[in-house]
Amino acid sequence: SLASKLTGTRTTCPYCGVGCGVIANPSDDGQAADIQGDPEHPSNFGKLCSKGSALGETLTLEERLLEPELEGSKTDWNSALDRVAGKFLQTIAEHGPDSVAFYVSGQLLTEDYYVANKLMKGFIGSSNIDTNSRLCMASSVAGHKRAFGTDTVPGCYEDLELADLVVLIGSNFAWCHPVLHQRLLAAKIERGTKIVVVDPRDTATTDAADLHLKIKVGGDVALFNALFAYLANSNAYNDTFVTDHTNGLGSALEVASSFSMDEVVEATGLTIENIETFFEWYEETSRTLSIYSQGVNQSSSGTNKVNAIINCHLITGRIGRPGMGPFSITGQPNAMGGREVGGLANQLAVHMDFEPESLDRVKRFWKAPNLTRGPGLKAVDMFDAVHEGKIKALWIMATNPAVSMPNAAKVRDAIEKCPFVVVSDIVENSDTLTLADVKLPATGWGEKSGTVTNSERRISRQRSFLKPPGNTKHDWEIICEVAQRMGFNGFSFQNPSEIFREYAQMSTFENNQSRDFDIGKFSEVSSSEYDQIKPFQWPKTGNAEQDTSAKRFFANGQFFTIDKRANFVPTPVRSAINLIDTEFDLVLNTGRIRDQWHTMTRTGKTQRLSTHIGEPYVEINPKDALRLNLKDADVAVVSSKWGKAYLRAIVTDRVSQGNVFSPIHWTRRYASRACIDEVTSPAHDPTSGQPELKYTPVNIRKM
Ligand code: SF4
Repeated sequence: SLASKLTGTRTTCPYCGVGCGVIANPSDDGQAADIQGDPEHPSNFGKLCSKGSALGETLTLEERLLEPELEGSKTDWNSALDRVAGKFLQTIAEHGPDSVAFYVSGQLLTEDYYVANKLMKGFIGSSNIDTNSRLCMASSVAGHKRAFGTDTVPGCYEDLELADLVVLIGSNFAWCHPVLHQRLLAAKIERGTKIVVVDPRDTATTDAADLHLKIKVGGDVALFNALFAYLANSNAYNDTFVTDHTNGLGSALEVASSFSMDEVVEATGLTIENIETFFEWYEETSRTLSIYSQGVNQSSSGTNKVNAIINCHLITGRIGRPGMGPFSITGQPNAMGGREVGGLANQLAVHMDFEPESLDRVKRFWKAPNLTRGPGLKAVDMFDAVHEGKIKALWIMATNPAVSMPNAAKVRDAIEKCPFVVVSDIVENSDTLTLADVKLPATGWGEKSGTVTNSERRISRQRSFLKPPGNTKHDWEIICEVAQRMGFNGFSFQNPSEIFREYAQMSTFENNQSRDFDIGKFSEVSSSEYDQIKPFQWPKTGNAEQDTSAKRFFANGQFFTIDKRANFVPTPVRSAINLIDTEFDLVLNTGRIRDQWHTMTRTGKTQRLSTHIGEPYVEINPKDALRLNLKDADVAVVSSKWGKAYLRAIVTDRVSQGNVFSPIHWTRRYASRACIDEVTSPAHDPTSGQPELKYTPVNIRKM
């Protein structure tokens, strides 16, 4: 087979939540690698997108942080780690455990996340550990928990091939999850899958849609409430499933039915004909899959949007069976692994929350001397607390919040003002690293080893194929060494397999069956067995090599609520928190482009990926451009009440009148005045804490 011809290190792409398997063969000098898609990986079957294919070109040691630094001077690890441990201990002694915080990342491996969470929640005694995944999928986590009782993704990628109708909501799937989009297009050719895209923009994804619902920004809840009410009186209503496996239909339906169809048309900006076509297709297609991403999550109504989508699947019983279900597609490579270990401020550990039994169980499992008691600060609130001087020691790992958080100038200011800032990273000049008192050089992709979880709950190994360069250390090692210097037991791990083993033991500790998450099969995994782990989906409880029960959840109910029933959640329509007005009269939406990743610290290293789109831009509708006397290629000044950015104007009807769009990737480091997250709104969903990055009131003028 082709697979047997492909030799090299089997590992996992570090970019998006698709989690493609790759096979890497490094060059002799270790600064490049030949990269192939892994034909045996069950998430991508050998396919890769442009970013994954170019991974081998991002491994040079140029711009790498290779030595620890203390206040601007190179130092040795002992001095750097002593300083970190000493300052954290001193701050905690003087101001209490909530005066310190970790801001971590969906780029960390699960083992890194596990020890960071253990240190903060079990030993420091605070829950002030949050992650850039807050910007990515926190609304889905909250929506899952409200509906299912746990944060469980019910389906798997195979559903793309088994569905007859795929509804893509708030997702530029073609650019942001390209390999899954290829799977969908192949299925469309094979079985004629209908595709509906709900998105306020024309994108590469809408090109392949049978129906594009070019919805008004924020119109999703009104649309899915109306669909839910329609389904209640349709042939698709599944009385048996609703009666046997759910609660709360009446109150949710009452809220969903409060809009007349005229009001739905007004709220969504769609024609009645298109709405009816969508509803009829949805009604008549049993195998319907609803895929959603940041256009749903990044909203002050993000959690309601998620539940409005899930309500439609519950009322039809279309969940957990082949080709059907609600499906949150994660943005980052390991946002899922992070949420599994509890690396969010509002989770405790391993799918447990802060109820007394869980606190007790976790305290005993970790032998935790200072277990936290309740949720900590979510990302936006955490940086506000830094700004207000309440957090006095901050450790940022593998992320770049000084330019990627909304209202980034304030976040940058907060980090600058914070009395003690540690940054662990792989690059020497990220916008955030330059603000650090202590810089800790971490190993990067290809050098580190551990596990990640992709959007279909599939845990795959990232394996190293390069030697750690310079004086770098693995993130888990750095965290454990600081913990030990702080005087804590429980961090003497020698390698990631020992961490994974403890994590697996925790997932079944005291046979805790009330949760979905269980990788207890690996409780005694040896180091060599860990090295050999093939990609698998959790829960993995049985002994069978292919545990098919792991593919899907909830076909027969058995939700993770106390009475095992799913909850219909009432989802009232709410407007964005900060609305357009006469001064800021355009709605800014932000997102990704095809060939760059986050703040470009890796993808920016290869020329090839810059040939697609080479500079920051703002898309503006021709009618708005005419009004503003703005022409294609002019420099536009995009301003909000939080900040401004100077961007190349692209005049296009891909965006509707009144809306503008800009990509997120270019930061101060590339173009000092083009950082779009200095413009975006810090408003956030009251339930999930996820920022409203898809709706910022702005104005635009020609420079
Ligand atoms: Fe990597 Fe995502 Fe592309 Fe797959 S689709 S190669 S995981 S960026």
